[in-house]
Amino acid sequence: MDGIGYLLSSLADLALPRTCMVCGRQLGVRESYLCIYCSADFPFTHFWDSPHNEMADRLNSLISRDMEESGGSLSYERYSGASALFFYRSGAGYRHIAQQLKYGKRVDAGRFFARLLAERIFQAEEFRSVDVVVPVPLHRRRRRERGYNQAEVIAEVLAASGGCRMAKDMLVRGRYTETQTKLSVDAKKANVRGAFRVAADKARKYSPSHILLVDDVFTTGATINACHHALRSFYGPRLLISAATLGFVGG
Ligand SMILES: [Zn+2]
Repeated sequence: MDGIGYLLSSLADLALPRTCMVCGRQLGVRESYLCIYCSADFPFTHFWDSPHNEMADRLNSLISRDMEESGGSLSYERYSGASALFFYRSGAGYRHIAQQLKYGKRVDAGRFFARLLAERIFQAEEFRSVDVVVPVPLHRRRRRERGYNQAEVIAEVLAASGGCRMAKDMLVRGRYTETQTKLSVDAKKANVRGAFRVAADKARKYSPSHILLVDDVFTTGATINACHHALRSFYGPRLLISAATLGFVGG
């Protein structure tokens, strides 16, 4: 930061103090979003270092089960890559990052953490061939209420960083699903099953070979799995589909 930048930043802090998103401490002029302590303790998943990580295993077992339940008529021979930036634990302050993006209109913070994710996943072999980025869509009504789709905020940064096309209109959320926070694993699965469809007219404009599905937080994987189902039903089993989120809820 140059002298003038430092001065302006100091003046801005006097007018509107910036605080750490995790612990709430007032930030110094050289800190952004996180204080030095929360930054040092940041719970990176490091999933980008290993293709068969906890998130990818959880997602791929859902995909296999989904195929068995549909009578094996929908074959999918690929192992889907999956990665998240940080461990999301209900008792830890780091959950505020995802909550502030979703409910607090902190789109700026969403972009900041999405850049941290992009810098890591695109170094990993399994994400290098991604050519189209698809955010998990919100229902039209919820998007109107919130004013933006938090998954789209993250997806835009990933698409720009990875030099991929952004296809925000490829998936459509057809049903207005209940807020998932208080539902059990099976109830969540039932809640999102069949909630997504591919907008055929839009999807034909792309001929993806590797889609990256993007959401804010990966919990049971039911949402990503439902999107995965819709995409491979449309494009066929040879399309590779990976997933990336900011937060990952550990088992
Ligand atoms: Zn802090």
